[in-house]
Amino acid sequence: MIIMRKGASREEITSVVNDLKAHGLGADVSTGEIRTVIGIIGDETKISATHLETLPGVKEVRLIETPYKLINREYSTLFDGKAESRIVKIGKVEIGSARPVFMAGPCAIESKDQLMTIAEGVKSAGAHILRGGVFKPRSSVHSFQGLGSTDESAREALGWLREAGDKYDMPVVTEVRGESQVKIVAEYADVLQVGSRNMYNQDLLIQVARTGKPVLLKRHFGASIEEFLSFAEYLAASGNKDIILCERGIVPVGRGKSFTRYTLDLQAVPVVQKETYLPIIVDPSHAAGRRDLVMTMSLAAIAAGASGLEIEVHHNAKEARCDGQQMITVSEMGYLIEACRRLSESLQPFRMTGMGDKCIN
Ligand code: PEP
Ligand code: MN
Repeated sequence: MIIMRKGASREEITSVVNDLKAHGLGADVSTGEIRTVIGIIGDETKISATHLETLPGVKEVRLIETPYKLINREYSTLFDGKAESRIVKIGKVEIGSARPVFMAGPCAIESKDQLMTIAEGVKSAGAHILRGGVFKPRSSVHSFQGLGSTDESAREALGWLREAGDKYDMPVVTEVRGESQVKIVAEYADVLQVGSRNMYNQDLLIQVARTGKPVLLKRHFGASIEEFLSFAEYLAASGNKDIILCERGIVPVGRGKSFTRYTLDLQAVPVVQKETYLPIIVDPSHAAGRRDLVMTMSLAAIAAGASGLEIEVHHNAKEARCDGQQMITVSEMGYLIEACRRLSESLQPFRMTGMGDKCIN
């Protein structure tokens, strides 16, 4: 991190950026209320701190000892002097404020009727963002892969998602499973989801970030929190800090029956909030893999401080073509939102702003 002197001139900042460029490095320039800080993007061994400190306008060069510097909470305190959290804006919806945001919809878009029915339902239940998969990551090649198998059917399904979102006034989120899908998904969706299985796919992350659209990055089920944040850093380093992180369960331990699909790591919520300024939401549907746990774990996630939830909802889960066992009904979604809202409000007085003096996150 290159910390500029207070009142460093535009020319001085530009000349530092150009110096980095000349060394084959990128720059993340953040100008806050206090001063400008420049994050170095790329292999830092290409340049020496002593050299940088001789450049006009540079106050000091500070090493941040983590693989995720640009999304680090400490970074934002350097230029802003405060540990403000980032609020990701998607149309009128804000993720990262005190009010939890609810994303809901089917696992996969199956037909126009199915999507429209569910969209109307989740809207009336109080959801803010509509979800629905077109490019489904599936463990078996023999199961339903979503409607994205041909360009024509993908466009049709994405078009329904857009139409449903516009009709019911909800931004829409859908998964991008591979680099070849980035362009088409960005044409239709407001938020691009990178699924758990793709968290480590740095080329996909770079392409998705470059669309400039907000990105929902789900934690891989085998990833440590450090790895999770390190891969979120790829998005930021590609010039996109509209990142929403999502905890969705990690691989359970032990040899006996685990009873759930994954283990929901709710400690990740306050830890991530301490490490970064990015908002984190929770997906209890894929973590549990069973609908009877979704309400309880949603409340637990809100208590842990999650900025929102992503929940799978279906009007006829028995007939659903994937993840039927974990999808809740529209009326259950209504109860869930109401309960989570009340819980969130009741905990507000105990949540404090600023680092260190937090009672609870
Ligand atoms: C999903 O949200 O549709 C999904 C497949 O989730 P995950 O990537 O967390 O498994
Ligand atoms: Mn699913």
